[in-house]
Amino acid sequence: SHLALARPDLLRQASYVDGRWLAADAETVAVTNPATGQILAHVRRAGGTEARAATDAAHAALPGWRKRAAKDRAAILRRWFDLMVAHTEDLARLLTAEQGKPLAEAKGEIAYAASFLEWFGEEAKRVYGETIPGHRADARILVTRQPVGVVAAITPWNFPAAMITRKVGAALAAGCTVVLKPSELTPLSALALAVLAEEAGVPAGVLNILCGDAPAIGDAWMADARVRKLTFTGSTAVGKRLTAAAAGTMKRVSMELGGNAPFIVFDDADLDAAVDGAILAKFRNTGQTCVCANRLLVQDGIHDAFAQRLAARVAGLVVGDGLAGPTDQGPLINAEALAKVAGHVDDAVSHGATVLTGGHRLGDTGTFYSPTVLTGLTRTMRITREETFGPVAALHRFTTEAEAVALANDTAAGLAAYAYTRDLNRFVRVSEALDFGMVGINTAAISTEVAPFGGMKESGLGREGSRHGVEEYLDLKYLCLGTA
Ligand code: ADP
Repeated sequence: SHLALARPDLLRQASYVDGRWLAADAETVAVTNPATGQILAHVRRAGGTEARAATDAAHAALPGWRKRAAKDRAAILRRWFDLMVAHTEDLARLLTAEQGKPLAEAKGEIAYAASFLEWFGEEAKRVYGETIPGHRADARILVTRQPVGVVAAITPWNFPAAMITRKVGAALAAGCTVVLKPSELTPLSALALAVLAEEAGVPAGVLNILCGDAPAIGDAWMADARVRKLTFTGSTAVGKRLTAAAAGTMKRVSMELGGNAPFIVFDDADLDAAVDGAILAKFRNTGQTCVCANRLLVQDGIHDAFAQRLAARVAGLVVGDGLAGPTDQGPLINAEALAKVAGHVDDAVSHGATVLTGGHRLGDTGTFYSPTVLTGLTRTMRITREETFGPVAALHRFTTEAEAVALANDTAAGLAAYAYTRDLNRFVRVSEALDFGMVGINTAAISTEVAPFGGMKESGLGREGSRHGVEEYLDLKYLCLGTA
């Protein structure tokens, strides 16, 4: 095919349940390349019945997997990591084809995705317990950590590989088994990862992947008492609904939901660094990440210079099909996303915002939108209130530090925030005042497997990555030993 994969067998259209590939001979979901509108594959469309079969498999595989030595699980995760690295080119091509991001970014995502397997494999060996001095002379207290059990994972389309390994790596390291539903828009990366997981030695039933009727699959898993944990990345609306459903059997929940990140540039910022950071924080993945800067708050004294510099850089971004040549930006994921971005820009302009560059759709093939810079944003515009998830840098002018912090916190979201300043005291004041789970100071490159990723307020619950990421998949057990 035009994907030119070195390993064509990485392109799968079946569900992966209990170590078997269930062929796409019944109902299917079409997977489309957003850059061209072409259909890449027809993936088997699963529903409640298949979801229950996957849970059966994960439940049956649990006793064997959890009792393995951590070192064995670590070795398998390490092999899976090595295979991902070895097949970076193919995985990146599949990812760009189904998701649209530039090929260089797709390779970056594969490296990032693989890093979670390496990290959590290493952490598997360090799931330590505790001893606590007894409350009586004849008591000994031991605290152990054990896997929560079968985990249901539901992932989005914006990072089709990394959102999977960030969850599955941690779950498998902890000794849990997994049923996973990737986004229907980007199932190919997930299925390719399953091929490599199998090669790495992940036993049948330990990881099961299917996609299709999302509500039917989600309902089946949420109703099933054998599923002890839900880990979800996606929209706030769906996250709230799933959290409510998980309460029926009191599952543990990790939620990584929408952000509305402020990006604050103070007068004392390094202007070049702030412009570089804004490009990364805003235009990476065509603005479609939950940590993307959604509101650029820029202080009076630096506002015009920053706006000009940023607009000049943004006007030079190369937009196109990531498989056709080097690009800086790809298409939006689908027509709905394109309409939302255009709607936000049109709403802002109709309420007085100024377009410095961009502000329109590009071409009529695919779902490309021009990288855009707007100034003159106000609090009431849709683009200020909602997450845009597109390539639009929206600049708000502010005067005082207190005003910037108040504007930044004026949102129900609390995932990532960024601030550029060279004043150490301001760094301390502002970073402590921001109600966000992650704060980048003088940098926009915050995502890494070694640090805890996650949000406050309506951006979610729990953390992924770092040693805290494994805790999400472990229960504490307290053993009280009476002695003679
Ligand atoms: P996004 O805006 O990123 O598409 P969604 O929350 O719609 O966010 O999607 C994230 C994931 O949640 C996807 O895998 C999607 O299929 C899944 N999803 C959407 N609705 C439901 C639902 N009712 N039950 C279970 N999963 C769902």
